Amino acid sequence: MATVQTIAGPVDSAALGRTLAHEHICSGMAGMERVGMFDVDDVTRRAVAALANAKDVGIQTVIDCSPLDLGRQATLFERLARESSSNIIACTGVYRYVPSSYAGWNVDTLAEYWLRDLRSGMEGTNIRAGVLKIAWDYEYRVDDGPSAPRAQLEKCARAAALAAKTAGVPILVHHRCEDRTGHRVLDIFEEEGVDLRAVTVGHCNDSLDPDYVIGLARRGATVGLDRFNPNRSQAELERRAQLALDVIKAGYASHMTLSHDRAAFSINGGPPEGGPRPEDANCYVRVSQMEIPWLLAHGATEADIQATLVGSVRAMFESASAMKRG
Ligand SMILES: [Zn+2]
Repeated sequence: MATVQTIAGPVDSAALGRTLAHEHICSGMAGMERVGMFDVDDVTRRAVAALANAKDVGIQTVIDCSPLDLGRQATLFERLARESSSNIIACTGVYRYVPSSYAGWNVDTLAEYWLRDLRSGMEGTNIRAGVLKIAWDYEYRVDDGPSAPRAQLEKCARAAALAAKTAGVPILVHHRCEDRTGHRVLDIFEEEGVDLRAVTVGHCNDSLDPDYVIGLARRGATVGLDRFNPNRSQAELERRAQLALDVIKAGYASHMTLSHDRAAFSINGGPPEGGPRPEDANCYVRVSQMEIPWLLAHGATEADIQATLVGSVRAMFESASAMKRG
């Protein structure tokens, strides 16, 4: 067992229950609250409603994957810690487009900053992050010297590795499947002595290649099939469910997480005139209401579903915690 830091305090890894491992409570940009794009009352109301609907379909825990530069709001977490009964695990780390302030920082400095969020609290509150997040996307393609995006992203991965080992927390990676960078990021974590069981390579269900996804799980990592977005077509959702079934049939149910990658509140992709997206209180229910029934109807067992929604997340936290002890 391991202690998992939620926004409301420590929870035992055995008590997390069914978990959505990659969602956003609130997403946007750093500083959005200072330019009138974040109203804590409105966002709290939306988040409480969405989390309650998720709980009604069996989801007890949600991992929030918005670091500071993706609009994380610690004041929101202070409210949610009181007003929602769900477990919410916040993250620190960095999203895409590594802030240029980081260009001159070394691995130790970056890790030290993230460790403050993990150990002391975020944004001047005493609410602590419970996981690390990094994001490798198109930017990784730009490889032109030490300040180019690729070198910066690799530095962030090494800093995340150091912080993860020091604090004993998992690392969640946003990655672009089409560019197949999952193996490279796992190579770096291996070089840095991270137990790959404590790493989730996320957004794997964007991949059209089951062998690529299963290959990441075979190395010991967790694969995040975490984009079951209700706005996609029925055919695309079934393709994504089929990929999850492929991973289960290959024997890696306990190395796979399911999620939507949706936000209870977001200004990203909002209306053309700016501002937040329309409210969707059902943003966290589609995995439970559609994907799991589809999997069960196509040969997955209840034990497989339990291994995926409960066991994989628990193992990720317990492996991370063991790194700290070890
Ligand atoms: Zn996301």
